Amino acid sequence: MNDLSALDRKNIWHPFTPLNGVPDPLLVESASGVYLHTSGGRRVIDAISSWWVNLHGHGHPLIADAIGEQARKLEHVIFAGFTHEPAIRLSQNLLSILPPNQSRIFFSDNGSTAVEVALKMAIQYWVHKGSTRKKIIAIRGAYHGDTFGSMSVGERGLFTDPFRSLLFDTEFIDFPEREKEADILQAFRELVRHDDVAALIYEPLVQAAAGMRMYDPRFLDSLLDEAHRHGVVCIADEVFTGFGRTGKLFASEYCRIKPDIMAVSKGITGGALPLGVTSCTDEIQTAFATSDLKRTFFHGHSYTANPLACAAANASFDLLTKPQCIDNIKRITRSHEHFKNGIQGHTAIREVRTLGTILAIELKTGEESSYVNNLRSRIYDFFLGRDILLRPLGNVLYILPPYIITDDQLNEVYEAIADFLNKLQDP
Ligand code: PMP
Repeated sequence: MNDLSALDRKNIWHPFTPLNGVPDPLLVESASGVYLHTSGGRRVIDAISSWWVNLHGHGHPLIADAIGEQARKLEHVIFAGFTHEPAIRLSQNLLSILPPNQSRIFFSDNGSTAVEVALKMAIQYWVHKGSTRKKIIAIRGAYHGDTFGSMSVGERGLFTDPFRSLLFDTEFIDFPEREKEADILQAFRELVRHDDVAALIYEPLVQAAAGMRMYDPRFLDSLLDEAHRHGVVCIADEVFTGFGRTGKLFASEYCRIKPDIMAVSKGITGGALPLGVTSCTDEIQTAFATSDLKRTFFHGHSYTANPLACAAANASFDLLTKPQCIDNIKRITRSHEHFKNGIQGHTAIREVRTLGTILAIELKTGEESSYVNNLRSRIYDFFLGRDILLRPLGNVLYILPPYIITDDQLNEVYEAIADFLNKLQDP
């Protein structure tokens, strides 16, 4: 174990992690259900679904078997000029659960690329329409990924500072807090009035990385309505919210007005393999429907529609659409609401928010909330000490469990949270 840790320290550059001055990462040897098993013999509850990807628990036999079977049949093939059954079946599966206006599926391999594709599709759509529209509108606090395009439509800050001068300009509207909604809608109207806006990109109902900030679907409907009135292409980034996290299969289901383009990833394979998907409506794809190379969408990745990832996604789809999974999502939703009601007035808490399987607790701090807030490492260490993986977003502590988490396991997490809150309260 020590040899491996030393090699890790020497060779590997971990994401979102300083190169020095941080503890060695935990070495995970295996995982099953809600548990990560470390080399030191610890059993850690994965209460954040391993960066929001896991849906049905780790090492699910149906997903593992689907990957194994597919690996023996066809592990990968170029996706230009060739196709395969797992991708075709997945396209059917996805179109059966995505909003009904979505009609075509483009594959990539992670959330950032799914967003990148969505942006490029929207911009090229306008080029094909003979329009000069290029402006993109996004919401303050947004996080859409780490590639240059997706960074450009995200909030500028710690993550993007070194690249700031190279990011393209985006118009931002404020985050729709209740009391600001009318002003924000007015500001949005001003922005779209000149008919030069290509697209609006938004994380429907929950800004995840910004601290699980939630907003009202009726406001989003007003925004989308206004956008559509001015021809603006609406891009829903459901990379985080997709596949049941918010209590519905997609957060866009809470809205009357459906997006023109959607980006999904994370939970799509149940958390087993990387895969990104961008879907679009007839209106969007029709602008590309010609044999003219100048109107071709020239975007692709080596592992586009990787058969193993598609097979995992099909297995995950079968699990997700079973009544048992839907019941689990409802059970977690009720359980979170119950816990929220119990802790709501706690003096250490600024706000508790829930939507579906997401529970977020924003803690009071003496300082501005931010990702590098000093409560963050205190929270992380406390829970890891209790063998629970919770990775707070600054002073926002949240649970996003795999759907197979049991009531007992959830209660263990809730109890640890209650203890932590009481500890915070102690002088
Ligand atoms: N969009 C949203 C809403 C996300 O939360 C994330 C990742 N946290 C991404 C895009 C980027 O996804 P990935 O990390 O797979 O590139």
